[in-house]
Amino acid sequence: MRVYLDHAATTPLRPEVADAMLEVLRNDFGNPSSIHWHGRRAKTIIEGARKKIAQHLGVTPGEIFFTSGGTEADNLALLGAVRDLGCTRIITSALEHHAVIHTAEYLQKQYGTIIEWVNHDELGRINYEHLDQLLAAAPGKNTLVSLMHANNEIGNMTSLSTVGKLCREHGAYFHSDTVQTIGHWPLFPKHNRIHFIAASAHKFNGPKGIGLLFIDNSVQVKPMLHGGAQERNMRGGTENVAGIVGMAKALEIAMAEMDTAKQHIISLRNHMIDRLVKELPGVMFIGDHLGKTNYIPLNVSLPKPVDGEMVLFNLDIAGVSASGGSACSSGSQVGSHVVKALGSLVKDRANVRFSFGASNTLEEIDFTVDTLAGLVAKAKA
Ligand code: PLP
Repeated sequence: MRVYLDHAATTPLRPEVADAMLEVLRNDFGNPSSIHWHGRRAKTIIEGARKKIAQHLGVTPGEIFFTSGGTEADNLALLGAVRDLGCTRIITSALEHHAVIHTAEYLQKQYGTIIEWVNHDELGRINYEHLDQLLAAAPGKNTLVSLMHANNEIGNMTSLSTVGKLCREHGAYFHSDTVQTIGHWPLFPKHNRIHFIAASAHKFNGPKGIGLLFIDNSVQVKPMLHGGAQERNMRGGTENVAGIVGMAKALEIAMAEMDTAKQHIISLRNHMIDRLVKELPGVMFIGDHLGKTNYIPLNVSLPKPVDGEMVLFNLDIAGVSASGGSACSSGSQVGSHVVKALGSLVKDRANVRFSFGASNTLEEIDFTVDTLAGLVAKAKA
């Protein structure tokens, strides 16, 4: 059996998405900037996809900018806020994805931007009172708050309405990395006065290398990539037409199947939690796993002498693909910055992130738990 439990890293491409992309790749090869028939056709296809995506998010098509993925979208939002909107301070959290943390650190070096870190507790829950205090200490339009909707390693979810309300009260801009939630939760940036949200198609069964940044039409930022007039002068370069079509198709399917997928995954996740608790004494789950959490990841913490890397290696050999945390940091040997930031509760323990998708089965979960239990028993022997 080969089991894939790393859907927070990436998801399989849906066959319907592949079909829609193939159709474009085969037949609609025109350059969308060309003014002849082939070009106009490709342009119409892009704008149709933009319109569909905008409808799902309750925004206008002009507020959607296609990017190469979540990382580029996060970079553009933070850079735009600092360089073009005059933000001199970014308030964020140590639990953010590196696409946000490393960009904020770059802006600190390059523009002298002040970074302030919002406190969180040992379950990784954001302290909204602290956020309120930080905002109140220097209210006004010179602050960007960047807090992700759901954490990719531990699943914790930020209340977008609470943060949106605080940002509004204190006049700050609000960016949310929604890469882990678009296509898995209903998301309406306008409802919570969010200025920027980032998405990546490969997290909701779409293709890799395509994403988007929503920029509320009340704010205007300048491009990060210079070149042609594509994306209304915001991103030079010939568009990834098939990728854009694939993203729109994947989002359409994800929205239509969201409730069924969610129920199925939650039942698998609960089953795994129940079995792990029964079979692995001392097991813990990292983050707010029973509270305000995304249903996709489950970060399992195991007591010593279990070694996380050995467990992952042996799970892989036995047929289970899981991960230690963010795929972008895997292999860098530095461990997860998210798990580290949580402190003593999970210190000196091994952790394995399982993350579920709609195609996983109960049988696969049982196989994974049995395999993991066998590996832990071996480590203890
Ligand atoms: N933000 C979060 C929360 C993610 O999980 C990821 C991908 O792992 C990214 C950003 C980066 O997205 P992409 O791989 O499309 O650049």
